[in-house]
Amino acid sequence: MQYEGALSKMPTEIGDPIQYYLVFEDSFLNVNQLLGRDVSITFKGYQCLNCSKRKKIFRQGFCYDCFYSSAEVGDWIMRPELSTAHLGIADRDLEYESKVQLQPHVVYLALSSEVKVGVTRKTQVPTRWIDQGACEAVSILEVPNRYLAGITEVELKKRYVDKTNWRKMLQNEVLTLDLLEEKTRIYDFLPDEVKPHFNTDLNEHVVLNYPVLEHPKKVTGLNLDKTTQYSGKLIGIKGQYLIFHDGTVFNVRAFEGYVVNISV
Ligand SMILES: [Zn+2]
Repeated sequence: MQYEGALSKMPTEIGDPIQYYLVFEDSFLNVNQLLGRDVSITFKGYQCLNCSKRKKIFRQGFCYDCFYSSAEVGDWIMRPELSTAHLGIADRDLEYESKVQLQPHVVYLALSSEVKVGVTRKTQVPTRWIDQGACEAVSILEVPNRYLAGITEVELKKRYVDKTNWRKMLQNEVLTLDLLEEKTRIYDFLPDEVKPHFNTDLNEHVVLNYPVLEHPKKVTGLNLDKTTQYSGKLIGIKGQYLIFHDGTVFNVRAFEGYVVNISV
């Protein structure tokens, strides 16, 4: 079977295990069904996820022009503390920014290798945790806008990392630690203005189970810019990565907007 189109982040469905999909313009597939089978990926070109033009992808699935003009990729996405919609101040497009920033956000602790702190819109729970390959996550607080979540994260970054170690995550080298106990220690370190929003529920604890037949001992990232064709047996899916039998791992999200042919 052949599938072809521009890659975008794999939609997921929570389950035991989590279900993954690849969605193209006129077809989609359930990636879990490819486990244990040989899969070929061939690079064919580019298609910007914003303007659909066949222009080289610059970052996050966008061509250069779209990346520097679209409201969807402003600095406040990666650095929530730079959000200004709550003050009525625009970065690129106040209407869009108000819609995204002025909604409930969750600050969480996730365990993907070490304990990581992160911010997400409430509607993105647990999707965001799945995308990061977290085995477990707990919500620390829920606040009414992105800015408050951002300043909390800045404070907690003094104690926890905010980036996933993708190698350890894929190799399943995960710290043994009680996340709920960790959460109980956090309260004192929160900025005063968010303390009333602390989530006191000590039973809310999400455990995620990924479709991985076998965790690789060593991993090498597949880079479609250098290796335009790859074939291998798929042995797992975790985070936004496809894991192959020879330790090759393919981060689908890093190649959004790359047009590929996938044959099974
Ligand atoms: Zn574009």
